[in-house]
Amino acid sequence: MTTIDQGITTGSGVDTVVADDRAHVFHSWSAQDKISPLPVAGGEGSRFWDYEGKTYLDFSSQLVNLNLGYQHPALVAAIQEQAARLCMVQPAFANDVRGEAARLIAERAPGELNHVFFTNGGAEANENAIRMARLHTGRHKVLSTYRSYHGATAGAIALTGDPRRWPSEPSIPGSVHFWGPYAYRSAFHATSEAEEGARALQHLADTIMVEGPSTIAAIILETVVGTNGILVPPPGYLAGVRELCDRHGIVLIADEVMAGFGRCGEWFAIDHWGVVPDLITFAKGVNSGYVPLGGVVISESIFDTFRERAYPGGLTYSGHPLACAAAVASIKVMSDGVLDHVKEMGRDVIAPRLAELAARHPSVGEVRGLGMFWAVELVRDRATREPLVPFNAAGPDAEPMARFTAACKERGLWPFVHFNRTHVAPPCTTTREELLEGLDILDQALDVADEYY
Ligand code: PLP
Repeated sequence: MTTIDQGITTGSGVDTVVADDRAHVFHSWSAQDKISPLPVAGGEGSRFWDYEGKTYLDFSSQLVNLNLGYQHPALVAAIQEQAARLCMVQPAFANDVRGEAARLIAERAPGELNHVFFTNGGAEANENAIRMARLHTGRHKVLSTYRSYHGATAGAIALTGDPRRWPSEPSIPGSVHFWGPYAYRSAFHATSEAEEGARALQHLADTIMVEGPSTIAAIILETVVGTNGILVPPPGYLAGVRELCDRHGIVLIADEVMAGFGRCGEWFAIDHWGVVPDLITFAKGVNSGYVPLGGVVISESIFDTFRERAYPGGLTYSGHPLACAAAVASIKVMSDGVLDHVKEMGRDVIAPRLAELAARHPSVGEVRGLGMFWAVELVRDRATREPLVPFNAAGPDAEPMARFTAACKERGLWPFVHFNRTHVAPPCTTTREELLEGLDILDQALDVADEYY
């Protein structure tokens, strides 16, 4: 384990951090009395550390947002310089750094997606994309997949498919779910990737017909499903969805909040399949989350809807200069070889090493992914594919994954664990040596999962 001196406060410092947190901070997604958040003192590159100096190699990139790692000097400097120049200008004004960020994003977006509406994060981006699609089409329904997460605001959580949606129901009218492709746990009893893709498309076509094409404003999907399993679409699936949208005048929204900005080795994950959506939503990796930023990249055709007609939406901090300065710096750093690094590390380091782990550990049911975006799916039985913990497990039912997680952390690796999976999503700048170090720790921690096999 590496110990880093910088920024570490010990003793009473950490006691105050914990006391203030427990007394006054209300945490996301948690039963407040059942958590003990790790006090984090600092970070650099692919590692962060607590107040005692224990360092973790981060295979989660925080919440899969820290694509350029901790304290990247170019991003820190850009924020500092912008702060010294102009901290805030409201969205109705034009501003150099906001315009430059929008231009750099539009230049990298596929097709004629030339305009950017800035938000503070991913959920707001999806809210606004849905609003644009409804106004553009004059229709109200939005279709999304069961295995998805789109954010925690009203519309975004209604479209989310996973159990985080349940407490927010009854849902917003017009939110309709369908099954996306997932060959390992096929909803269509498919026996190959190709069959899964074809059957998933037929299911979507059927869903559109029974819901009524003339009522459907948009289909929103995560290009590569993130939290719900790093599900890479089978060849032809996204092109098929595009074709269905074209046939029925439906807006295609690619949620690239997690998969975009280098995570999959391209600016936008959808570039892997050469498909052009009508709207792309982004956040996280656009500036590594150094200052909150998200947005919607908008096609010419949807932009045309709002040439003469006012767009009825806005946010005080839309295109915040500090966030945009971080985005400009981040895009420039990424343009300097980071995308190639992600592709190379995914292909030459992560994929082969995970394949080795799958061969050695019986509890590994499947590994899948691309770039620096991978899932290791754990099972009790390879033949039946029974998950290591039940779907949506909590408490004692979740113990095998809790023990696996603890085994990683004890050895200095911070994993991203969701249900019966651990995801490999380190900063895109993580070196080959660091990746091998983290994958070795995963190897050791998987012995714990094997005990349940
Ligand atoms: N969409 C996807 C695919 C996400 O992964 C997330 C967050 O994890 C969101 C939307 C919501 O983003 P935010 O938390 O910035 O609102």
